[in-house]
Amino acid sequence: MTLPSHLKPMVIVIFGASGDLTERKIVPALYNLFVDKWLSECFAVIGFARTHFTETSFRQHLRKKVDRFSLRGKTNDRDWHDFASHFSYISGHYDDSAAYTALVNHLSKLDKTWHTYANHTFYLATPPEGFEAIAKNLGKAGLSHDPQRTRIIIEKPFGRDLVSAHGLNQILSSLFQESQIYRIDHYLGKETVQNILAFRFANALFEPIWDRRYIDHIQITVAEEVGVEHRGGYYDQSGALRDMIQNHLLQILCLIAMEPPVSFNDNEIRNKKVDVLHAIRPIPKDQVHRFTVRGQYGAGCLQGLRVLGYREETGVDPDSITETFVALKLLVDNWRWQDVPFYLRTGKRLPAKVSEVSIQFRPVPHQSFPSTSVKDWQANRIVIHIQPEEGINLRFQIKQPGLIMLVRPADMRFTYREAFRKPIHEAYETLLLDAMLGDATLFMRDDQVEAAWSILVPILEVWESIVPDHFPNYEAGTWGPEEAKQLLERDGRHWITT
Ligand code: NDP
Repeated sequence: MTLPSHLKPMVIVIFGASGDLTERKIVPALYNLFVDKWLSECFAVIGFARTHFTETSFRQHLRKKVDRFSLRGKTNDRDWHDFASHFSYISGHYDDSAAYTALVNHLSKLDKTWHTYANHTFYLATPPEGFEAIAKNLGKAGLSHDPQRTRIIIEKPFGRDLVSAHGLNQILSSLFQESQIYRIDHYLGKETVQNILAFRFANALFEPIWDRRYIDHIQITVAEEVGVEHRGGYYDQSGALRDMIQNHLLQILCLIAMEPPVSFNDNEIRNKKVDVLHAIRPIPKDQVHRFTVRGQYGAGCLQGLRVLGYREETGVDPDSITETFVALKLLVDNWRWQDVPFYLRTGKRLPAKVSEVSIQFRPVPHQSFPSTSVKDWQANRIVIHIQPEEGINLRFQIKQPGLIMLVRPADMRFTYREAFRKPIHEAYETLLLDAMLGDATLFMRDDQVEAAWSILVPILEVWESIVPDHFPNYEAGTWGPEEAKQLLERDGRHWITT
């Protein structure tokens, strides 16, 4: 019998196996895939990091983390022992050639045991400084060459500007074919983000009105209540533009704005997305101040608790000029979207954890009702909720029950929770499975990453040359600096907060 492709023998090597991402996301996702029978009996996970673990202590350490972080709740003994028996560990620096020799030997031992050549997925869950060294060492060890069997997953951030992203792409492409490289943006694995494709292209209803004739503007908000938590050191070198806009928000914009794909083939979808990035109007450097707003939070109050300002957070430079909030206006120069602004905003220590896309339609072309009937009238709006409540809202007008004609807005609401009454898979489950199956639809291609960085080049250059002397400029627990409101008010619009 031929095994379904998801059940082919496979080995996942996790570089950064003692790190936060491995513990909180990767291993809990693998555990869920295992329990749901998405993994073959012939699968193995090899952890790689400097910390000294024995096989037993590595497994014990991971169990505590899965118990804590898995949405499934605590592990049970039978499932865990079965799952953990597939785990082993190699201790080494990512430059340590002896550790790569041990890895090669371990992989060939598994092949011998399984009487086959297993697929290999190398997951680079280390700080980005490690990506180049690990890729090169995999190449030297002869582990990069087989395009059929070998894949490499690269965590974000992929570069910190266009030059570094291009450099990393060149190194990777000298060792791997593009089809072997999986650049992760975990937002793309979220159920609701994927649902944008289904909503747009599996329904005949919306596509005919999905353009400049009917849509006034689009807003994409990814707001976080949390500050930098334990990642202050990393975040202070990055900031909201690099950490959120370059990847998550631009990728969502692509899904909203892309043309219908001819097929659901990974490269076809990525072609259509990259077309959007290429169509985004470059912001001239002397206009950056008109199209962008940056902010940094000061101390404030959130959910009734006092919270520190950004500059007081652990790992953050007390004079930091890193932005924790960005709002920007982008225009997409093509037939579909000419003159329809896309407003993007993201920030930390905002009043709510919410990710959503609001598609604001134009007013009706002619208002036939008397003005007394339409005092509460609002143009149509579709809101795609990505988190915390995953779903879609359609706002339309109804006649308010009563003896006189009064028109007011009402919402038609779809939520995944109510419709399906079962937990939604974690984004990392989807992404790991896709990478193992060789489906790159939800991963970023080299040209996509570089096109996204190109859009940010003028902003980064201007922001780096002009030191913000007004930071912190928003209080924790508010919706960002005043200028973010003005960005829309100048266009006669306002931020939609649902
Ligand atoms: P951590 O600092 O928690 O973990 C880093 C891992 O890399 C550790 O296992 C560490 O192990 C290993 N490592 C560091 N230096 C070396 C070295 N010289 N040789 C071998 N191993 C090394 O980072 P995170 O887990 O938070 O992040 C990992 C990656 O994932 C980063 O690129 C990050 O941007 C990305 N990411 C993380 C998210 C998160 O929620 N944590 C979310 C999205 C992306 P040891 O010290 O034992 O060697």
